[in-house]
Amino acid sequence: MTDAATVDGTTHADKHTPALEVHGVRKTFEADNAPVRALRGVDLTVEHGTFLALMGPSGCGKSTLLNLVAGLDVPDEGTIKVAGEEVTGSTEDELARMRRRHIGIVFQFFNLLEGMTVLENVALPAIIAGRKRKAAETRARDLLDLLGIGDKVSAMPGVLSGGQRQRLAIARALANEPTLLLADEPTGALDSAGGQEVIELLSRLHSGGQTIVLVTHDSDVAAVADTVLKMRDGRIVANDAEVNKGAAEGVTAIGTL
Ligand code: ADP
Repeated sequence: MTDAATVDGTTHADKHTPALEVHGVRKTFEADNAPVRALRGVDLTVEHGTFLALMGPSGCGKSTLLNLVAGLDVPDEGTIKVAGEEVTGSTEDELARMRRRHIGIVFQFFNLLEGMTVLENVALPAIIAGRKRKAAETRARDLLDLLGIGDKVSAMPGVLSGGQRQRLAIARALANEPTLLLADEPTGALDSAGGQEVIELLSRLHSGGQTIVLVTHDSDVAAVADTVLKMRDGRIVANDAEVNKGAAEGVTAIGTL
């Protein structure tokens, strides 16, 4: 039997299609000839405007789930839809287009283009998506201003602090106005000041209506999410009163193990 968790955000009530729908997703890796059942049946619905934090012990399947949602890997079973569009079963071209339209992703170690300026790092995804360079750079400047590093447009990423580097990575992830901002341990490589900068930024983006799904070990990050779901052994452990504080705020999470 699979677990089911429904996360019901209240903003963007006009958008009837959920931002994210995960149904019956399973994923097994072959490692040293022994199968590792990384995801054992995950069901999850995330409405627009929700800030969801996935927590749980190392190896419980959090990053695997995030990668599948991002279209970076494919499930063995089950379906994933972002804004109603299938991530699974698409052709490479469809998947690339879907990712550009709907997904912005932030990694623990930033993955910045070190040979390009701050502005170029943020403008590039929009240019790849077909926007004119000038329009892409204008949006990139606006984003960098909004994210508090507008004075760094001409700098190379290497001169930025850790917190600024992650803010740059977040600006880049937002370049194409994604339906979902995904983040895998976004504060994991930062000191506490840098982590705080990123937490405040995520919180601000959420207040502005951005849907966020992230994986974290950091309880300070989880504290600003409106919903926290815990994973264990490849499943979402719902109805966990200690971590699912969203339950007290009208969020429903139903799970059976
Ligand atoms: P978490 O993010 O919760 O730490 P992961 O999703 O990274 O967990 O991993 C879940 C399980 O799947 C772990 O046992 C991990 O070793 C295994 N795993 C993840 N990716 C691979 C892979 N590419 N090949 C083999 N095993 C993997």
